[in-house]
Amino acid sequence: MANATNAPVIYWFRQDLRLSDLPALRAAIDSGAPVIPFFAIDEDTPGEWAPGNASRWWLQHSLLALSASIEKRGGRLVVQRGGSEALLSQLVAETGAHAVYCSQAYEPWNRSLEDHVATSLATLGVALHCLPGSLIFTPGDILNQAGEPFKVFTPFWRHCRTRLPEQRLLPAPKKGDFAASTPAGLAPSDWQLLRASEQPVADWHDLWEPGAQGAQQALQRFLDHALEGYRDGRDIPAIAGTSRLSPHLHWGDISPREVIATLQAAPVGELEDDREKFIAELGWREFNQHLLYHFPHIDQQPFKPAFTSMPWQQNEDGFEAWKEGRTGYPIVDAGMRELKATGFMHNRVRMICASFLTKHLLVPWQWGARWFWDTLVDADLANNSGGWQWVAGCGADASPWFRIFNPVLQGRKFDPEGAYVRRWVPELTDLPDRHLHAPWELPPMLSASSGVTLGETYPHPIVDHATAREAALQAYKERSSAPSADAG
Ligand SMILES: Cc1cc2nc3c(=O)[nH]c(=O)nc-3n(C[C@H](O)[C@H](O)[C@H](O)COP(=O)(O)OP(=O)(O)OC[C@H]3O[C@@H](n4cnc5c(N)ncnc54)[C@H](O)[C@@H]3O)c2cc1C
Repeated sequence: MANATNAPVIYWFRQDLRLSDLPALRAAIDSGAPVIPFFAIDEDTPGEWAPGNASRWWLQHSLLALSASIEKRGGRLVVQRGGSEALLSQLVAETGAHAVYCSQAYEPWNRSLEDHVATSLATLGVALHCLPGSLIFTPGDILNQAGEPFKVFTPFWRHCRTRLPEQRLLPAPKKGDFAASTPAGLAPSDWQLLRASEQPVADWHDLWEPGAQGAQQALQRFLDHALEGYRDGRDIPAIAGTSRLSPHLHWGDISPREVIATLQAAPVGELEDDREKFIAELGWREFNQHLLYHFPHIDQQPFKPAFTSMPWQQNEDGFEAWKEGRTGYPIVDAGMRELKATGFMHNRVRMICASFLTKHLLVPWQWGARWFWDTLVDADLANNSGGWQWVAGCGADASPWFRIFNPVLQGRKFDPEGAYVRRWVPELTDLPDRHLHAPWELPPMLSASSGVTLGETYPHPIVDHATAREAALQAYKERSSAPSADAG
């Protein structure tokens, strides 16, 4: 396809579905060769961490958006299904490409894929140029004074915060940078990302706009409406108090550097505190990614080995009730139903639901992480493993094991008027606020007027909080010498 003097290079898109601020794409363009953009729908190489249903929906639409942006610049995104390693070798042979560029990804399977691809391309005399692009700091560069990875967030972030790079963003390609002629690849109707039996329940386009433009809009919405008061508003699930950038960041619709640069350029005035809190949340994303890089087993194994012997219960019935939002605890049920309906759950509610599964039901955190993996649009191996281990008390810098969220107190504190619960658990709408988070406390004479009959219109609690809490404390205490305390 290419002559010797004008041989193309390939840009291999992965979890970086954008054109701006992408160092490896910029390097490909700066090589002076026409760039063939390529994406492999590779559901085998990741093994059990192939994207779940909600993620595949996101991927389908983010890829469509990327493809349209490339076409506007005179190129065409080549999409194929199969093993990335074999597909890249074939594409090199077919096009005569003399180099392949990509952005680093840090999941264990992605890192070994990079090694395999580099080796097989080398046998063809072709180099793989793999550059950072999805994080602010490169894992391996951030180490403590002893030259070891940080295991606690606060010193990690203190170290990073003073080193935030001057955010000079890289421009998107222009017309003529992409190769004018490319192999055909698959039409979107053949991508097979949306399996008929697993379609999301609703048309999520009302909720989400995957792709770079959607990411810019989400960021702007956040600056206009949610940055002010973010420090407290981020904990209130009934309001749009956060950015909802997480799926965009996972798929690389936008770079975290660009998010920070935009925030730093915004005239925030008195909102300095809110801005700092938001930047620190991006810091948690960095922390989790760096942890997964240094401790690649934490997707499956507890970071703290003492917790390997936890007496987890294979409580299938409890797990089903949790997944379906039928635990009888309104804030938990609201969260689980929000997840199913929208592919998202508010962070505060993620913590409450994860605590309920692991501490009230003693179901292994890995089961919950798996369900989130399949149902979240922002499913991300590092953040999901980190979040679950934090709540279960077995992670690096985890919430203490004796911190057992009381779902009633959490509900009353963070959803005091019950707007969130009423949105997702409509059968409780007519309960007075006072009883909304504990419907079993409803006096019988109010039952008729509220339309709630426990066991009929809404479940009895599947466990008693005090009993479950004692059982969990006992199991956890044996694995720790820390004192016991309750958490609100
Ligand atoms: C049990 C559990 C599982 C989780 N699973 C995931 C997951 O699979 N993917 C995922 O991206 N996040 C996960 N999180 C973290 C967090 O809930 C989401 O990142 C956040 O709710 C996304 O909403 P937002 O973009 O509106 O956040 P914002 O408050 O607007 O924060 C901005 C960005 O900072 C990052 N961030 C915020 N909070 C956290 C956090 N606690 N940990 C790490 N990064 C954070 C995200 O990239 C987020 O987009 C999980 C948390 C828990 C407790």
